[in-house]
Amino acid sequence: LPPLPKDAPIGILQDDKFSRYSGATMFKELPLSKRTLDGLKRAIFSKMTDIQMASLPHSLCGRDILGAAKTGSGKTLAFIIPILEKLYKERWGPEDGVGSIIISPTRELAGQLFDVLKTVGKLHNFSAGLLIGGRKEVEMEKEHVNALNILVCTPGRLLQHMDETPNFDCSQLQVLVLDEADRILDVGFKKTLNAIVAQLPKRRQTLLFSATQTKSIQDLARLSLKDPEYISVHEDA
Ligand code: ADP
Ligand code: MG
Repeated sequence: LPPLPKDAPIGILQDDKFSRYSGATMFKELPLSKRTLDGLKRAIFSKMTDIQMASLPHSLCGRDILGAAKTGSGKTLAFIIPILEKLYKERWGPEDGVGSIIISPTRELAGQLFDVLKTVGKLHNFSAGLLIGGRKEVEMEKEHVNALNILVCTPGRLLQHMDETPNFDCSQLQVLVLDEADRILDVGFKKTLNAIVAQLPKRRQTLLFSATQTKSIQDLARLSLKDPEYISVHEDA
């Protein structure tokens, strides 16, 4: 790969530079911020998985993604890295509020991806919160939710905050992630998701990941994505 020019922006690829990175196999070959690269190193991630290799050159350009790859293929980093890079490039800070929302089908999965976010994002200065709690936690969440940069939530709890939390503000949202979208729909959250997406600013990047490609995923994609890059990674591909 040719070296990046010295004055190249850190982190985010210019659209026309995408092809230059489409053959990259190692994280360090991508133009990521040192903070993200060091975070990946701490987690001992060096070589990309297939879905990461196929999607990151697009998502780092700011494109919407519809990504399908089986469970265990590494979809989490395929959205955590673009979030960190986008907010870093925008110099997102404490006063900027919610810059990214990650929606996950269950508390357990949300907790797992929150741990990955904490590890890989450790050297960045973003605040992040896990909004999945029970009845007791909701009042405390309401006081803090506007100060968080990255929200990791289950659909029901996010919609509850949108409806109930005074001054809940996601008008500056940069990146929306729908993770394990097939499972979000399986658990019956279709209406909740539609209500959430309807309240979000239209100008944003959306990354939709799923283990399967179904008709209902296509419907969700039509509703939430703009001119997406379709990426499907199969076992033997
Ligand atoms: P998925 O969401 O597609 O089911 P995950 O993102 O949960 O997959 O990743 C599955 C496992 O693979 C996790 O244990 C994760 O730590 C590991 N993993 C992800 N990306 C890499 C990588 N680039 N190198 C090594 N291990 C990875
Ligand atoms: Mg996953």
